[in-house]
Amino acid sequence: MHNDPFVIAIDGPAASGKSTVGRLVAEKLGFLLFDTGALYRAVTLAALRRGVPIEDEARITDLARTIHIELIPATVADGRSYTVLVDGEDVTWAIRSEDVDAHVSAVSAYPGVREALKHQQRRIARQGNVVMAGRDIGTVVFPEAPLKVYLDASPEVRAQRRCEELRARGEEADFDEILAAVRRRDAIDSTRETAPLRVAEDAVVIHTDHMNIDQVVDAIVKLARERLEDPA
Ligand code: C5P
Repeated sequence: MHNDPFVIAIDGPAASGKSTVGRLVAEKLGFLLFDTGALYRAVTLAALRRGVPIEDEARITDLARTIHIELIPATVADGRSYTVLVDGEDVTWAIRSEDVDAHVSAVSAYPGVREALKHQQRRIARQGNVVMAGRDIGTVVFPEAPLKVYLDASPEVRAQRRCEELRARGEEADFDEILAAVRRRDAIDSTRETAPLRVAEDAVVIHTDHMNIDQVVDAIVKLARERLEDPA
């Protein structure tokens, strides 16, 4: 087996199942899950709460450099995969609000924000074997990751899955609105100048429209085991 921490990068568009799949892959392999979208969401939430205008790049960048974000094992058994703390406050569900959804892509397009969070991501990932879910893990944050997966699905399938997930939590979900939001985020994330969403050259692309979660998880676990045994 490997001695260096082994990073599995899982990138892909909004609602492509990265965190659900990532959590299950991590459980099966005994890895940690690091869902990097939570960092961008935490900065966005902090800006909204403090009344910092989303257009104010300098102040938003400053926030990204100064707030203290921690991802720790789940502290409450309420369906969460992990707990997110910002300056010690539990914001695990607050960062999933519609308001944060609507503004996070603008915040994450700022180069200074990405730079600040890149350092945090590299620091955390060096602490042990980890599954990192995001948009630019295989291309920018960990281009040397021994396994890169790009999870994809059509916008309609992703919107449908997001609806079902919200309804399962007892929340209301309007398919058309969710589909529009998914498309909007995809457009911003893939056209921004810094670290746009794209498939790394050496990534394995998994199209999940006709796969269930277990099939996707098994495929990634199989790839990971092969590479752990034979790193070359
Ligand atoms: O994955 P999640 O939906 O939580 O990500 C929220 C947003 O954070 C994305 O739409 C994207 O704008 C940004 N993000 C990013 N780079 C990452 C992870 C997330 O730009 N590595």
